[in-house]
Amino acid sequence: MRSYKANRVFEGYALGKLAVYSAIKVEKTVGLGKEKEFERFCHAREETVHALDTSYAEALEKLGEKEAALFETHKLMAEDLDFEDAVNAELEGGVTAEYAVQSAGEQLAAIFASMDDAYMKERANDVREVANRIVSFLKKDVKGFEVKEPSIIICDDLPSSELMKIERKLILGIVFVKGGSNSHVSILTRMLEIPSLCGIDGLTVDGTLEGMDAVLDAKKGDLILEPEAQVVADYAKRQKDYEEEKEKLLAFKGKPTLSKDGKKTEIYSNIASSFEAENALRNDSEGIGLFRSEFLYLEASDYPSEEEQFEHYKRVVEEMNPRQVIIRTLDIGADKKIDYFDLPDEENPALGFRSIRICMARPQIFLTQLQALYRASYYGNLAIMVPMIISLNEVDFIKETAAQARANLKARGIPFKEDVKIGIMVETPSAAVLSDLFAAQVDFFSIGTNDLTQYTLALDRVNPNLKEQFDPRHKSVTRLIKLVADNAHKAGIPVGICGELARDEILLPFFVKIGIDELSVSPAYTLQLRKRISEIDTREVRLEEFI
Ligand code: PEP
Ligand code: MG
Repeated sequence: MRSYKANRVFEGYALGKLAVYSAIKVEKTVGLGKEKEFERFCHAREETVHALDTSYAEALEKLGEKEAALFETHKLMAEDLDFEDAVNAELEGGVTAEYAVQSAGEQLAAIFASMDDAYMKERANDVREVANRIVSFLKKDVKGFEVKEPSIIICDDLPSSELMKIERKLILGIVFVKGGSNSHVSILTRMLEIPSLCGIDGLTVDGTLEGMDAVLDAKKGDLILEPEAQVVADYAKRQKDYEEEKEKLLAFKGKPTLSKDGKKTEIYSNIASSFEAENALRNDSEGIGLFRSEFLYLEASDYPSEEEQFEHYKRVVEEMNPRQVIIRTLDIGADKKIDYFDLPDEENPALGFRSIRICMARPQIFLTQLQALYRASYYGNLAIMVPMIISLNEVDFIKETAAQARANLKARGIPFKEDVKIGIMVETPSAAVLSDLFAAQVDFFSIGTNDLTQYTLALDRVNPNLKEQFDPRHKSVTRLIKLVADNAHKAGIPVGICGELARDEILLPFFVKIGIDELSVSPAYTLQLRKRISEIDTREVRLEEFI
C-alpha cells in the first residue's frame, strides 16, 4: 500500500481499478518521402477537423457554448499555417508525418509555454492536444484511449477532448498527476461532478499502474494505491455514508435557509465564469455572492471588450434571474498578473498596485467594465461590488465612474437599470475599521475573509510555510467581522461573507448570531450549509466564545 498527497479538483470518493491514459509516443523513423508524408498529414488533418466538429457538438450538448468553444480554437490551431510550415520544415529531414507533427507541436507548445501570460501558457497544452489528435489519425489509432469498465482514470494530464469521449458512468474518478486545478479539463471535471485530484509529487504514470486497485479520497486529498482490504472496507463505508448524506441533503432543496429559531441567512455561490451559474442553480443557491470577473481578463490575450464582457455578465444574470448576481469588478495584481496589463514588478505585490488602485490609475478599463455591467443589469438582478477598498475617496471615484458609464449608455440609447446596487468588499483592516463611514456611502458589504485575514494578521495567504499560522478564526478577524456586521445593520444595509471562511463549521453559529445576511460559498456546499444552519439555535450561541 502506498499513499500520496494531492490537491482536490472536485470532492468525493472513488474506489476501483486504475485506467492509465498516456499520450501517444512517436519514434523518429524514415518516412515515404516529403511529398507522400505531407499528403498523409493533410489527410489526417482533415479527419482531425472533422472529429473536432463532433467534439464541439458533444460539448455543446453536455456543457454549453463556452466550453464547446475550445474545440473551435483547436480547429483553428489544426488549420494554422504556421503549424503547417513547421510540419513541412520537419518533413525536409525525411521523417514520417507522425514525427513531423509531434515535433512541430512540441516546438509551438514550447513557444506558448515560455510566455508570461497565463492564458498563452495554457495554450501550450492545446497545441499538444491538437498534434496528438492528428498523430492518432496518422497511426490509425482513432479510437485512442478507451475505458471498458468503471475506472479511476490516472494521467499526467488529460486532453479535454478525451474526457468528453468517455461515458460519464465509466468514470469513477480522475487523478491528474501533473495537472493543475484551474486547467480547462479540471473545470470540465468539476462541471461533470467527478471526484478528482491533481498535482502529485513522486508518482510516475506508466503501464505498471494499469488495473491497479486504488482509493481516491477527494475530500481530504489522498490517493492510495494497492490499499489493504481493511482500508478498502473503511473507504467503502465512508463513500456510502457520503452518498447517503448527499441524498439526505436533497430534502433541503427549494427551502429557505433558516436557523432553528427562525433567523434567515441566504446561501449564495462564488463563481469564476459565467457557465458556473448552472452549477449554482443545480445546487439550489439563492444567488451569486461573488462572480470573480478577473477570470475574463485572465483568460483573454487582450483587454476584453465591453461587448465581450456584457455577453458573459448577461448570461449569468439572465440564468439566475430573479436571484441576485453580485459581480466583482476587476481584482487583478498581486498573484494575478496579466501580460497585457504590463504591470510593474513590485517588492510586495500583495500590498502593491492592484484592483481598485489599477482602476483609478487607468479609469478607461474600469469605465468599460462598468458599461458592460450596467448593460447586463437590464436583464435581471445585478449588483456591482468593488474589491480592495481602503478609503472613502475610492468610493467617490466608483460613483463618478458609474455615473459616467450611465451617461454614456444613455447617449448611445442602450437600456440599463438606473438603480443598480453598488457595494464594496471589506477585505482590508482599513475598510473594516471605517465600516461605519463606508456603510453610509454604499448599498452593501461583502467581507472577503481571505484577504482580511492576510492583512489583519500580516500573514501572506499564499506562503505555504505560513499555513499553520494563517488562522482566519483569529479573534482579531472575528472582532472585525462583528464590527462590520454591526455597522452595516446600524445603517440598514446587508452584509455578506464571500471568503473561504463563509463555510467554516465552527464559526457558522457566530455568523448566524451576528446576523450575516448572506454566505457565499462554492455551489457544492449550499445544501450542506443550509442543513447546518437549520440545526443552530442562536439563543444558545454565546458570542464571547468567538470574539
Ligand atoms: C477574499 O479575499 O476573501 C476574497 C473572497 O477574494 P479573493 O479570494 O478573490 O481575493
Ligand atoms: Mg480578496
